[in-house]
Amino acid sequence: MVERLVLASGNKGKLKEFHQLCAPLGLHIVAQSELGISEADEPYETFVENALAKARHASLAAGLPALADDSGICVRALGGAPGVRSARFAEAAPTRQAQDEKNNQHLLQLLASSADRSAYYTCVIVLVRHPKDPQPLIAQGHWEGVITDQPRGEGGFGYDPYFYLPTLKRTAAEISEHEKNQLSHRGQAMMQLVEQMRGQGLIGADR
Ligand code: IMP
Repeated sequence: MVERLVLASGNKGKLKEFHQLCAPLGLHIVAQSELGISEADEPYETFVENALAKARHASLAAGLPALADDSGICVRALGGAPGVRSARFAEAAPTRQAQDEKNNQHLLQLLASSADRSAYYTCVIVLVRHPKDPQPLIAQGHWEGVITDQPRGEGGFGYDPYFYLPTLKRTAAEISEHEKNQLSHRGQAMMQLVEQMRGQGLIGADR
């Protein structure tokens, strides 16, 4: 059974979502930043490789099983960009909030003359039991939306104020945290991961 996990992220928006997703499962997650663990490099071209690198790095440093996600937004008119480079799409900014704002402005500029505004968030979550785990658990989630010109909503993080959900007529920053966790790429991937963890006896069937 897994009870305590290190979470390989320092992104406050992600951490909040993971805490809410893991609490009902009786999984106690500790952010790597709380343990003084630095963020791993993400040099790869695929989400799965980056997520695995982050999970291994955190597990080795913490001596605990580790959970990592690598996620991003893929815009069809941009051939899938920013994709794995979503966190640092625009030039570097001093804070995460400033970086998010620059990323969003850069995205809007690139889409200025585009009729196709469709996009999707994608997320790969990896769980390793130890740094050399030969059989990491890997789950993937996907969330469709459209990029709007005007930001709306105060919730979420990153690209959420511009990620419009036509069926809900709201952006990802306008829906509740609970709704986001039900619908989002991260929520979907987490649900799949939980099924795999149950199948492997890593969490009880009743959770
Ligand atoms: P990474 O997984 O740490 O490489 O960063 C993922 C980046 O993708 C974040 O910094 C955001 O810019 C973006 N992203 C991923 N998931 C979300 C989300 O749920 N909402 C908004 N932006 C997201």
